[in-house]
Amino acid sequence: MFIALISDIHSNLEALKVVWREVKRADVILCMGDLVGYGPNPNEVVEFVRREMERRDFLCVRGNHDNAVAFGLDWGFNPYAREAVRWHQRVMSVENLEFLRRLPVRQLFTDDTGRSYLLIHGSPRAPLDEYLFPWLPDSEFRSVLGYVRQDDLLVGHTHMPMLRLIDGRRIINPGSVGQPRDGDWRASYALIDTEEPPENVHFHRVEYDVEETARKIVEAGLPRFLAERLFEGY
Ligand code: ZN
Repeated sequence: MFIALISDIHSNLEALKVVWREVKRADVILCMGDLVGYGPNPNEVVEFVRREMERRDFLCVRGNHDNAVAFGLDWGFNPYAREAVRWHQRVMSVENLEFLRRLPVRQLFTDDTGRSYLLIHGSPRAPLDEYLFPWLPDSEFRSVLGYVRQDDLLVGHTHMPMLRLIDGRRIINPGSVGQPRDGDWRASYALIDTEEPPENVHFHRVEYDVEETARKIVEAGLPRFLAERLFEGY
């Protein structure tokens, strides 16, 4: 069985489309949240996701940006992010906002080998907000896994690809589709082949039309910084 992992699309339709071409052949697609925020195409991204969810195995959880846009809770957001949240609330359709409100904060998945997964945007200790950065020590990940009954934990939120193996259990972050922050501007996703050993999680990067996304961000009147950062992978 092939499992595709995606996260943090952030209203970037160009990045989503190129990643989709590569992940759509997987048996299931798991998304760790933040469909919206920052980028110029929230309605198009949410409608794409809604459509695909109706016709295939595709699970998605709510991220902190989805939450902020859907419920207006943007405390703790930097000024750029907050401005983008307000813009999203103005341009998004009622149906698409309602879809974000209904996204679960946690999702469970079990693969064909019986291995179980918990999907959560940030961390089980603070589902929407805690960052599980790749440089945290094993002791921190061990403590986080104390809150997880499933074998593996799938997260997003940091926009940095990561695989940590702790006592045979995995914490995986596929990186960000729409706004990578590891210095590589290309859209990020991950693939798992359940016939392979657990340490074989395949991380992929794919080029997309970043100029077009940046142009749309500026055209929408969103902060210019949100366009510039896409070229830097930050
Ligand atoms: Zn995010």
